[in-house]
Amino acid sequence: MSDARGHSERQRLSVEEARARILAQVAPVRGVERVALRSALGRVVAHDIVSPIDVPAHTNAAVDGYALAAATLPEEGVKEFEVIGTALAGRPFTGPVGPDQCVHIMTGAPMPPGTDAVVFQEQTQVRQGRVAIAADSRRERNVRQAGEDLARGSVALPAGKRIGPAELGLLASLGAPEVAVYRRARVAFFSTGDELRSLGEPLGPGLIYDSNRYTLYGMLSALGVEMLDMGVVADDAVSVQRAFADASSLADAVITTGGVSVGEADYIKQTLAELGEVGFWQVAMRPGRPFAFGRLGSAAFFGLPGNPVAVMVTFYQFVQPALRRLMGEPPPLPPLTFRARALSRFATRVGRTELIRGILERDAQGAPVVRSTGSQGSGILSSMSTANCFIVLPPESAGADPGDEVDVLPFSGLL
Ligand code: AMP
Ligand code: MG
Repeated sequence: MSDARGHSERQRLSVEEARARILAQVAPVRGVERVALRSALGRVVAHDIVSPIDVPAHTNAAVDGYALAAATLPEEGVKEFEVIGTALAGRPFTGPVGPDQCVHIMTGAPMPPGTDAVVFQEQTQVRQGRVAIAADSRRERNVRQAGEDLARGSVALPAGKRIGPAELGLLASLGAPEVAVYRRARVAFFSTGDELRSLGEPLGPGLIYDSNRYTLYGMLSALGVEMLDMGVVADDAVSVQRAFADASSLADAVITTGGVSVGEADYIKQTLAELGEVGFWQVAMRPGRPFAFGRLGSAAFFGLPGNPVAVMVTFYQFVQPALRRLMGEPPPLPPLTFRARALSRFATRVGRTELIRGILERDAQGAPVVRSTGSQGSGILSSMSTANCFIVLPPESAGADPGDEVDVLPFSGLL
């Protein structure tokens, strides 16, 4: 099967092959730095972090109630216990607790010596310093064991873990004021195209504003890399060569948009071949062509298409997994998709992966259903704003009809 440019679909790499080839070419940056805990958000743990303490540090009450020894609970009927004190979170009760005694305890308070169960406050009846507790309270312990969250000496966070909100809290629970993370990956990017104008400049005939650098800025910000925005580069060999040399001397990865095709003014692939190495540039995916991957000195090079939707699709499919690897994460698994029922008809071509912008919702029964955002031109950036997912049609698919199950990749799962 050939397209208008005469390329055989069969010579093209599948999305999975392309991703695997890229990931095989990128390794984590070497540098490591210690940063204050809050600054570690979005960074990647450089060495396994071993817990210096048990979390929680003490076995403690999981509910408000009465702490006692479970063995002293009645086997049947109701038994009265004397309340000999109170234990609060941060204010333990340290005295001994006898077989007919209990301690009024609040959630988070350490269990008094000799006790191993908490009877729910709601399951008791209090009368003048004594509580009546029934046999059915034997069923639950309502206790959190010391170290049940993180045991002292165990790996609390492995090297390669991206630090999100849960990891920040977890590190705080270990008392860690600082954490060793990989240095930020440096990513240089620029747009190419003589038709591109920067914001604030007037638009003459045939000119457009450069939107790709803003989309890229947004996607790169979410990843937490250090960005070098190199602006717009003109469509001429000398300008592209100079930009390549500058970018690769400064960055771990270089991203360009536009100018990858074999059109007259497209210098990206040619310059990459001259100054670096072309890994491949044919992927059986739509939108997303043409896309070039290679090396420029020690930097990984990503030549994205010019069309704004294709920029986002190729970024999420190829650049983002590579940058995550570069940042120190393990090679990422393919993005998680799930199944939804198609409401629209999708006509696609066998031999390439197609990513259709979709709107994912629930039908009246609560089942996930998905429809197209409408026109799927790769220049229609508003489709990415209207959409909340990609509908992924694999190479073997010739399309889908309303009622068919299709794979969807929600945007909310993308970093
Ligand atoms: P190219 O890949 O250079 O042939 O560009 C493909 C299409 O994307 C053309 O319509 C370009 O005008 C458009 N395009 C290229 N770069 C940008 C950009 N930075 N912002 C918006 N549109 C662009
Ligand atoms: Mg161009």
